[in-house]
Parts: sequence; structure tokens; C-alpha cells
Amino acid sequence: MDFDLSEELLAVRELGREFAEKEIAPTAAADDRDHRFRRDIFEKMGQLGFFGCVVPESCGGSGLGYLAMVLLTEEIARVHSSVRVHINTQLAPAVTLARFGTEEQKHRWVPGLVDGSRVGCFAITEPDSGSDVASMSTRAKRTDDGYVLSGTKTWISNAPVADWGLVYAATDRDARHRGLSAFMVELDGAGVRRATLDKMGALASPTGTLEFDDVRVPADQRIGAEGQGFAMCMWQLNQTRLSCAAGALGVARAAREAAVAYANQRQQFGQPIGRFQMIQDSLAQMIVEEEAARLLVYRAAHLADRGQPNNVEVSMAKYAAAEAAAHAADGAFKILGAYGYSTEFPVERYLRDARSYQIVEGSSNIHKLIIAQDALGYRRANRGLD
Ligand SMILES: Cc1cc2nc3c(=O)[nH]c(=O)nc-3n(C[C@H](O)[C@H](O)[C@H](O)COP(=O)(O)OP(=O)(O)OC[C@H]3O[C@@H](n4cnc5c(N)ncnc54)[C@H](O)[C@@H]3O)c2cc1C
Repeated sequence: MDFDLSEELLAVRELGREFAEKEIAPTAAADDRDHRFRRDIFEKMGQLGFFGCVVPESCGGSGLGYLAMVLLTEEIARVHSSVRVHINTQLAPAVTLARFGTEEQKHRWVPGLVDGSRVGCFAITEPDSGSDVASMSTRAKRTDDGYVLSGTKTWISNAPVADWGLVYAATDRDARHRGLSAFMVELDGAGVRRATLDKMGALASPTGTLEFDDVRVPADQRIGAEGQGFAMCMWQLNQTRLSCAAGALGVARAAREAAVAYANQRQQFGQPIGRFQMIQDSLAQMIVEEEAARLLVYRAAHLADRGQPNNVEVSMAKYAAAEAAAHAADGAFKILGAYGYSTEFPVERYLRDARSYQIVEGSSNIHKLIIAQDALGYRRANRGLD
């Protein structure tokens, strides 16, 4: 077992760290406060190749791999969790197209998603369909020359600003998960309405609804076969969940760093509060949870880079990292006392942002369910595209 990162991966991590410190950190608090999607930062990330680590070179990516992607994502999320969301909104359509699209479809969309000239999103969730993806009611009805899309998606990251969306819809509702299909949909097109949702955290990452009112989608914008949508969606989620887990890891690290720095500096009862055992207990827990999550995230990425199945490992990584982020942010919040509650310090932002990781890309309950059902033999997690 080799725990050392290659020179190339160390350089990628350094690039992510420098970019985050120089380009994102100076305005992170203000961007969050003002709910500002920073298109300039987004475009620079695209130009630097941050969206293309796991996209093959033949499609405009760098093919650097999953470990490179998680290292970069962790660095970005450590500085501002909202900004790491961009990696997922581009990654989801780009890798799905690269894996399931025709040559024409790859050529048409992937390079723009990778270089940041096109903003993407992926739309699975609906008002009445969250964890139970197969229950979605957005419908794509077959016509002579394509499909007519109708229904509502909600909680879609980048919905308010995206150019194109990878939208999942039912082409045969009676067939449940075997009746879903995937489409690339132009979001500025006729019949698409968007609205922005207000929320507790990730405020510089716009989230919204997409309403499709009889939207005409040409047949050549269907990705993969009719009825293959559910399998593609689960495959896509396995990629984006890993990046999401790395995001949670970044938030856990930021919170732990803030807590350690404050515990060393803040004096009470004539000594730094870090001298108190109850503070040490809290720090030790956050350090161990973060480090355990990091090993799980790296292992899941390593398996992906070797082309090995990793669904159960991704679920472990996502669950562990989401919980580590929430615990670390909560611990840091308490250690900072009133300053944890203050908008002057970033810890209240970490606390708000950390909670999103327990919900998005499969809630913590859903990941526990995947892990336990795999162990019990009820449903094998690493079973490929069935
Ligand atoms: C900031 C943010 C960004 C998002 N971005 C996107 C996006 O880009 N694209 C997209 O499609 N979606 C997105 N989502 C939606 C997200 O994927 C869903 O919120 C998530 O899948 C959970 O669905 P739900 O909120 O409807 O909760 P529900 O599925 O209604 O779950 C409610 C509660 O019940 C629990 N639960 C549900 N089923 C089970 C079960 N079988 N066993 C045990 N417990 C269960 C859940 O864990 C949760 O605690 C985003 C959400 C947020 C908050």
C-alpha cells in the first residue's frame, strides 16, 4: 500500500490550493453574503482544467483521474464550499456524455462543459421525488421527431444560471426505474421557466427549480437508450458523489483548522482554551473523523482510477465525509463561542455549508442503507450497469 502522492498529483493539489487562496478566499465571505455566483471564478476554473480531471482527453478533458479530482475539490471546498459545487454541475453532464453519448453528442457538449464556456447542471430531484429517484413524474412523451418534456425539477444546483441541463424524465412511467431516459435540454429554450430557491447555506451556488412546459426536445438530444436513464443516473451519481465527498472533506478540514487556531489563541482562566481537556476531546474527534474520511475518499478515487467498481466505497466515503464535516463544523462553532456565531468568522458559514452534505447526492441515510444492504446481501452495491 502506497500512501504517497505522485509528483503530478502533488502539483495538482498545489494548483488547487493556490487558486483557492488567491482567487476564491478574498471574496468568499462577501460572495456568500450577497448570494453571488462568480462566473469569472467559474470560467477560470474551466480554463485551468478543474472540470476535466475525469473526462478523457479525446473529449477535451485532461484524464488526470479521480484522485486528482478529489484533491482539487478538497482544496476548493476548504476555502469556499459553494465554489466546489461547480465541479459537480459540469462533471455530471460531461462524464455522462463521455460515457454514454454518441460521438456527435460528445463533440457537441463536452468541450464547452469542461472549459467552462457553458454552464451545466443535472436535474433529477422533483417536488415529490427525492431519494426515490424512480418515482419521478417529469415526462418525456415521444413525438415524430423527438420528445415533449413536461414536469418540474427542484433543488437543482446552477438551475438559475445554466445553459444546458442533463435532465432525467420518464418515457414510460409504468416501467418505473426501467422507464427513465436522459436528455440534454437547452435551458434558454421555449417552455423552460426557472426560479431561484432561497436556502440556508451554499449561498454562492445558485439553486433553483426548472419547469418544463411542453418543451420540444429533438431525438438526437436523448443520451443513451430509451429506458437506460435510471442506470445512467446511478452511474453518474457514483461519480458526483465522490467529488461531493471530497467537498465535505474540505469543509471538515477548514473547520478543524479554524478550531485548532482559535483554541491556541483564545485565553480563558489564564491559559489557552486548547489546554482544557474538553476542547482537546472535541479536536481529537474532529481530527480522527476527518482523517478517516480522507482515507475513504482517496481509496474510492484510487479504485476508480484503476477501473475497479467502487459504489460501496463511494457510499462509505460520502457518508463518512458528510458526517465528519457536520461534526467538525459543529465542534468548531462551539470552540469559537460567540465568535462561532459571528459572521466575522467563517465558522458559521462552514456550519451552514456542512449540513448540505448530509442531504445532497444521497442523504446520509441513503448511503447507510446502501452500505448495510450490501453487507447483508440484500442488494449488492458494486454491481455495474444493471
Ligand atoms: C443545496 C442542494 C443542492 C442540490 N442540488 C441538486 C442537483 O443539482 N440536482 C438534483 O437533482 N438534486 C439536487 N439536490 C436535491 C438532493 O439530491 C435531494 O435533496 C436529496 O436526494 C434528498 O431528497 P429529498 O430532499 O427530497 O429528501 P427525501 O428523499 O424526501 O428524504 C427525507 C428524509 O427521509 C430520509 N429517507 C428517505 N428515504 C429513506 C429510506 N429509504 N430509508 C431511510 N431514510 C430515508 C432521508 O434520509 C431524509 O432524511 C440538491 C439539494 C440541496 C439541498
